[in-house]
Amino acid sequence: MPIITADYIYLPEGFAANHFLEVDDTGKIIDLGPITSEIQAAQSLNGVLIPGFVNTHCHLELSMMKGVIPRGTGMTGFILGIVSQRGKYSEAAQTEAVTLALQEAWDSGTVAIGDICNGPVSINPKKVFPQLYCHSFIELLGLNGSQANDILNKGRVLANQFMALPHSLTLHAPYSMSQELITATHQTHPSLISVHLLESAEEREIFETGTGPFTEFYKKIGIPFEGFSTSSPIDYVLNEAPVNQPIISVHNTEMTQEEIEDLAKKFPHLYFALCPRANQYIHGTHPDPNKFLRIMDRVCLGTDSLASNDSLDMLEEIKALWRKNTWMTTHSLVKWATTNGAKAMRLSDKFGTFTIGTRPGVNLLKNLDLREIQLTEDAKIEKYY
Ligand SMILES: [Zn+2]
Repeated sequence: MPIITADYIYLPEGFAANHFLEVDDTGKIIDLGPITSEIQAAQSLNGVLIPGFVNTHCHLELSMMKGVIPRGTGMTGFILGIVSQRGKYSEAAQTEAVTLALQEAWDSGTVAIGDICNGPVSINPKKVFPQLYCHSFIELLGLNGSQANDILNKGRVLANQFMALPHSLTLHAPYSMSQELITATHQTHPSLISVHLLESAEEREIFETGTGPFTEFYKKIGIPFEGFSTSSPIDYVLNEAPVNQPIISVHNTEMTQEEIEDLAKKFPHLYFALCPRANQYIHGTHPDPNKFLRIMDRVCLGTDSLASNDSLDMLEEIKALWRKNTWMTTHSLVKWATTNGAKAMRLSDKFGTFTIGTRPGVNLLKNLDLREIQLTEDAKIEKYY
């Protein structure tokens, strides 16, 4: 069994020097620990060995729209762009784009993805690429309360098509769902839900004042809008969720620190997924890690889709956060992208740490400033398993 060492090995509590990792040919962790005189390492590597990345938020089915929607459209402009482009691609082109995206994610060191699905196009690519674990979130949306049951039933039909793959029904976002549909979704008792929450200032505005770009947007797509029953998008979409519900709250860019801490307290299995490059792409905004300082163990990362990102490379998400927040340690950022992501997706028994008997992926994070274990612009991932 190959025994490898590096300058440091990632452990959830810190980077450990003078440690080894023993991995079999299938990527299974056989052993790890401090180097003793009996340990004969086959390879000694420059950098930090870290587990595979867990990308908690993606839309693989939008992969064919890479570079199609212009940057800086804002939330409603972006959704209109997606809606207007969606029907323009053949099934073969969509399938090919998903297949390439899976390969790209895998090659850049990702081992698991939380993937939002509105249709069946990703099913076959996921089946032929089983080495990359995907949890498919079957997304429900619709503002007309009288259609809630129909929408739920269509979601169930789609979920059946995903039967052989890990999946659950999920919420889209507060601004796109009727109260009836939200209630119906919670009543299905999903194993895990994901919800886009407070991604934009427009979302806050439509809930608090009933005005802003969303009113124009509803008009354009022909949805009669009568206002929401509450001024808080968070209350609107999560009030009926059981407190033990595992939840991934995605984006959170416009959430206040108080809202973040209240949510973390109310839902012990809720994790906050940050998608810095997608926020930059759509809104020109950036999530503020300072708001999460008291709940650092509840933050994870996602790339969002190739419609709002240049790649599905999780190291690039880490770098995007680090560039604007150089006070953040490399260890915290890696933890968000690995251990916390696995916890968010309820996959800690498979991924996120070097645990004996698991196959969490083995990446070498290299080209660091090793005196301080700081990231650099040249930092790179070399995938071992
Ligand atoms: Zn998304």
